[in-house]
Amino acid sequence: MHKALVIFLAAYFTVNLGVADWHYPNELPNGVLSDDEDWGGMCSSGKRQSPVDLAKDAAIKGEFPLFDFESYKSVMKNPLIVNNGHSIQISSVPGPIYISGGGLNSVYIFDQMHFHWSSEHTIDHKRFALELHIVHHDKRYDTLSRAAQEKNGIAVVGILYKITTIPNPFIEKLLENSKNIFDAAGKNVTFQDKLVLYDLLPRNKQRYFRYEGSLTTPSCGEAVIWTVFEDAIGITIEQLERFKSVHDDSGHELTHNYRHIQPLNSRALIYVEGEYNPNSANSFKSFSASILIISVIFAFIGMKI
Ligand SMILES: [Zn+2]
Repeated sequence: MHKALVIFLAAYFTVNLGVADWHYPNELPNGVLSDDEDWGGMCSSGKRQSPVDLAKDAAIKGEFPLFDFESYKSVMKNPLIVNNGHSIQISSVPGPIYISGGGLNSVYIFDQMHFHWSSEHTIDHKRFALELHIVHHDKRYDTLSRAAQEKNGIAVVGILYKITTIPNPFIEKLLENSKNIFDAAGKNVTFQDKLVLYDLLPRNKQRYFRYEGSLTTPSCGEAVIWTVFEDAIGITIEQLERFKSVHDDSGHELTHNYRHIQPLNSRALIYVEGEYNPNSANSFKSFSASILIISVIFAFIGMKI
């Protein structure tokens, strides 16, 4: 087996975090989900679970420094697309793709990304067509599964998609490249086109929600620091519908793969708008310091004269 493929498969099995045999509840004929997921363990007992409704009324204002998307602009090395029975997931040869800044307390290394249809997070109770999760782990831990045991060990960036009339070129590329793995769980294929993570981000990267939550699939570990951008990207209905032909591990069409909204409980939901500017807060201090320096210089000149 090709060495790169071994790495990919190892990464694929690691991200399942040792939990097998779970599924999404059925949809009622009116399209609404029938029951809660009933996945047990932390999924049932946790108090800091995801997804949540990103309600602006419940949010508190935040200002963080800009994100640093390191190597997000490089072409990904041999990205592999997997039908893991619960989603379409893209992994890459481990490399120095990471995010920092944006109020995160560490540097987080890219692991994989995958889609949910419809969206998992809602904004003011509005659900979106699709949600992309870009998953990273804190560089202080060796693997994603190790990081999943630590508070804020994992940073997920969520990107929402809304329905428009203009086809999304990235989604088109992804659907074309992965269509042969849709019919059976466990299939994988190498992404043939160039894939650049930065192209997936919304134009406005300074407006987003931030909160501390969990993985949205079993084990539902409460290890995730979430960033969900407010600006949604467009896809067409036709593109969205093609995701629904992905087959799960029991051979059925995966018509939806999103988890119910979880209670926020006592957590802070932060709405970040704009960049934190340290100079504005300290402008009086720096003005005072300048006056002091000028006074010292004048005193010094005075002494010479
Ligand atoms: Zn996800």
